[in-house]
Amino acid sequence: MSATNLDPVSGPDTSGALDTWRDLPAAQQPDWPDRGELDKVVAELASVPPLVFAGECDQLKDRMAAVARGEAFVLQGGDCAETFAGATAENVRNKLKTLLQMAIVLTYAGRVPVVKIGRLAGQFAKPRSKPTETRDGVELPAYRGDMVNGFDFTAETRRPDPNRLLRAYHSSAVTLNLARAFTKGGYADLRQVHAWNQDFVAESPAGRRYEQLAREIDQALSFMRACGADPEEFHTVEFYSSHEALILDYDRALTRIDSRTGLPYDVSAHMVWIGERTRQLDGAHVEFFSRIRNPIGVKLGPTTTPEEAIALIDKLNPDNEPGRLTFIARMGAGKVRDALPTLVEKVNASGATVAWVCDPMHGNTFEAPSGHKTRRLDDVLDEVAGFFEVHHALGTHPGGIHIEFTGDDVTECVGGGHAIVEEDLALRYETACDPRLNRGQSLDLAFRVAELYRSS
Ligand code: PEP
Ligand code: MN
Repeated sequence: MSATNLDPVSGPDTSGALDTWRDLPAAQQPDWPDRGELDKVVAELASVPPLVFAGECDQLKDRMAAVARGEAFVLQGGDCAETFAGATAENVRNKLKTLLQMAIVLTYAGRVPVVKIGRLAGQFAKPRSKPTETRDGVELPAYRGDMVNGFDFTAETRRPDPNRLLRAYHSSAVTLNLARAFTKGGYADLRQVHAWNQDFVAESPAGRRYEQLAREIDQALSFMRACGADPEEFHTVEFYSSHEALILDYDRALTRIDSRTGLPYDVSAHMVWIGERTRQLDGAHVEFFSRIRNPIGVKLGPTTTPEEAIALIDKLNPDNEPGRLTFIARMGAGKVRDALPTLVEKVNASGATVAWVCDPMHGNTFEAPSGHKTRRLDDVLDEVAGFFEVHHALGTHPGGIHIEFTGDDVTECVGGGHAIVEEDLALRYETACDPRLNRGQSLDLAFRVAELYRSS
């Protein structure tokens, strides 16, 4: 986020172009019990201030264009599902700290500029494989994220409540405010590379490895300062927000016309993406996304055909604007080497400019004997390695990773320096949805990706 280009986006849409999605099937929308209540909330959301400015979205689009050209790497990550209770200073700081540590490892050891995007300040809605959940013979609506209903298994909490859309907006504002303060107010200063690791260094192999790297950075910084160089980039960090724009009433209500250009932007986040379950070509999500001007992503699972990928490009980026479209491949470790090459090859041959990002999480989920949904760090690392191999073989650019992680020492994924085993999962299993990498596992991944990047 930069201090330049701060023109607010102000106007409502009067052309109707932003509502064409309403005539199309919209997958994964909640069954709101009271339409009138929803309309009231949506009207209020349509008048609240933007969370981000169009100029900032454009700046991220420029950064993503550099990724697509092979000049930068994107690190996108955060919770599977943010919660309202999780919007605390400590929680946000821990996530940012881990993201900054990962980014430093990638920049220093991978020798590549890193675009930093949080799954943060808006990631409150979840697509579900089943609309209901049954426990001990009781069937209730599935939890669809704090933006829609509550996690507790009671009829009252699971009832979709449109007032939660407003809470999601306010919770996003609080989180983004913290993120802006942490990344601009001195906390992200490179002189803090050791401080980010202080509570971590002694107790973990990844922490010790990081500390060694931080010492080298210190020396490089001292050298630069002795030479008289102390650029602004060393003191603040450019950080962007993103979420899956799943609940269309929410993202539509937060779409504004940019006063500079007259173009529509979803001002609830810098970047928004379409999930694997809502990317139907003739569906409402793809239609809505085709109308907004933010940088956008689309998740691509292992059944995606090259024809589908190219049709998505035609619909979502017909002018082939660099940085506009990112494909986030989430194939699974066992499938990436078979499923990804044809997609990348055909997209490349079509002349389209897209950034390719690897989500090594969503194709690698399984259920442990205890019933916990989990992932193996080894599978995550293997999918990333496969992603790099595919791009290396085709001469294309492995543009980044998209991950689910948290800054806390949870026990949700197995493996890593601390060797969490399946029996440990119950110790600190805190996610509201999918299992996240903990801090040590995230750093392990960053070191591995840096090695892959340097040798690619
Ligand atoms: C997610 O990102 O949490 C998600 C549901 O992913 P996908 O759409 O790839 O399944
Ligand atoms: Mn998830």
